[in-house]
Amino acid sequence: MKVAEGMLLDKLPPVRGRLQEKANLAIKSRWGVGGPAEVLFVPEDLDDLVFFLSNIDDDLPITVLGFMSNVLIRSGGIDGVVIILSNWFRKAFVEDGIFEVGAIVGCSELSTMAMNHELGGLEFLMGLPGSIGGAIKMNAGCYGSEISDVLLELEGVSRSGKIRWLKNSDLDFRYRNSGISNDLIITRAWFRGIRHADYSVHKKIHEINKKREEAQPIHKKTCGSTFKNPEGIAAWELIHKAGCRGMRIGGASVSDKHCNFIINDNNATADDIENLALKVANKVHETFGVVLEWEVVRLGKKRSSDNNG
Ligand SMILES: Cc1cc2nc3c(=O)[nH]c(=O)nc-3n(C[C@H](O)[C@H](O)[C@H](O)COP(=O)(O)OP(=O)(O)OC[C@H]3O[C@@H](n4cnc5c(N)ncnc54)[C@H](O)[C@@H]3O)c2cc1C
Repeated sequence: MKVAEGMLLDKLPPVRGRLQEKANLAIKSRWGVGGPAEVLFVPEDLDDLVFFLSNIDDDLPITVLGFMSNVLIRSGGIDGVVIILSNWFRKAFVEDGIFEVGAIVGCSELSTMAMNHELGGLEFLMGLPGSIGGAIKMNAGCYGSEISDVLLELEGVSRSGKIRWLKNSDLDFRYRNSGISNDLIITRAWFRGIRHADYSVHKKIHEINKKREEAQPIHKKTCGSTFKNPEGIAAWELIHKAGCRGMRIGGASVSDKHCNFIINDNNATADDIENLALKVANKVHETFGVVLEWEVVRLGKKRSSDNNG
């Protein structure tokens, strides 16, 4: 539903949090690109989020974003309401080896907290630039572990404003997919740390940091792996062998350091990035007959002046 300017705000319930029209999302996005949110809502706290969701029209599009490290926002922006959780959702506690963390806590923050309590199992989250909510939704993982290995339970709010608690076993986790409906906003989660890890948690984190630094262009504007790894083979290897390393469209290029990463190294637009990724996928398909599946989530619409889909 796209309504005339100013009208959507008038139709929204009187929340305590922040409502902002035409909010710039590009400045928050790791790629630094993308059009605005028709309306951005930053709920004051859980009650405010529940109140908002309980009092909106059923057909109003709602999109939730975390740290925007795995999304490509197209240049025409996102219709409806984009929700970004406030710092109220950034609380974290630990008791008896169980972590209770808000959805907007950073993955690295949780990993650091675990290290400070000498609890193992969460080291792989160090350097993952997403929020806990985004990481659960994506079943993020690396270096042999995934969120689904350590998550105990989550709290979320449904599209109609009902608070729900789901255990790990209620979810249908697969590779980079949690099976969680786009209608559920994750607000909190519980994780277990390993109390007597028979290795140094600190040392393992140090090793992970070193590996990431060596293998990935982590200081560039990027959203990490563009495509999922097909069964049995790394996407970067196919991209490399298809001759796409260093390929460029406009201000976007395929990273020399890790060729499943696309970087914005010269004022790229969202179209540059998407078109480059599509070109890479076509090249891989032509060369190996393998269809690459997007890992990055594409959101929003192209600018109406664009005619390439
Ligand atoms: C340099 C770099 C390295 C990376 N390395 C890895 C890696 O090793 N492994 C890996 O798996 N990923 C990696 N990523 C990708 C990314 O960091 C993860 O997917 C991360 O978990 C996404 O979290 P986010 O908060 O940024 O989510 P966003 O990008 O904001 O959103 C991703 C998806 O989650 C949804 N979402 C976000 N928050 C919520 C919420 N609270 N409730 C419900 N849905 C929500 C969004 O709607 C969207 O569909 C990397 C990215 C970068 C930039």
